[in-house]
Amino acid sequence: MINHKSRDEIKRMRHAGHIVALVHKKMKEVIEPGISTKELDSIAEKVIRENRAIPTFLGYSGFPASICTSINEQVVHGIPSEKVILKEGDIISVDVGATYGGMVGDSAWTHPVGKISEEVAKLMKTTEEALFAGIAQMRDGNVLDDISTAIEEVANREHYGIVRQYGGHGVGHQMHEDPFLFNYKVGDKTLIKKNTAIAIEPMLNLGCDEVEVAADEWTVSTADGKPSAHFEHTVLCTEGEPMIMTQLME
Ligand code: MG
Ligand code: MG
Repeated sequence: MINHKSRDEIKRMRHAGHIVALVHKKMKEVIEPGISTKELDSIAEKVIRENRAIPTFLGYSGFPASICTSINEQVVHGIPSEKVILKEGDIISVDVGATYGGMVGDSAWTHPVGKISEEVAKLMKTTEEALFAGIAQMRDGNVLDDISTAIEEVANREHYGIVRQYGGHGVGHQMHEDPFLFNYKVGDKTLIKKNTAIAIEPMLNLGCDEVEVAADEWTVSTADGKPSAHFEHTVLCTEGEPMIMTQLME
């Protein structure tokens, strides 16, 4: 069942989203060759707690950290580690959730580490473009397939792989609520209504669609070992323009 957010719930979600955006801002500042993903996790957790929020991911289904850090061919759910040190030319996807006043904000961003190849920079730029193409369809009276189709069209234009097993989702009281949102057209005619919040999150690969889960039972990587990018915002359907909830409030 898709629930619709009250004015007060939206207010708290917007605050949670602001904190998530603060984490991403901080990540952008500190990501550089030589830093470990464990250090990034500690910094992120500090920002979340300093803002009187709870790291949503920590303990979620047993996940051991406050952020997911997925490098290069890793798609999502990478576990921060002191042994994983960023190096020049890597890309890193940081996925963050914060719970404030019982409401969740969820957003992911892929960052370059130093100078990266043009090919990978284009993958990142296109995945971000796919996210915003999806967001533009988050309108009262549209259907879920409108978002999925918009994302798929951007990916197909560049012949990128689209991760099929993971996708967007309703978000609010829980990190994962109904509905599930595919990143490719499946014919889902579920109506999008005012005050519905969905985390829209395309994951695009430089190579094939296929992914596999590592022995740690968390880290998802591309099957062909080629890089993957991930961009996500929590978005609210309003009467007018879609509202991105996981951005800094003025
Ligand atoms: Mg996320
Ligand atoms: Mg999500």
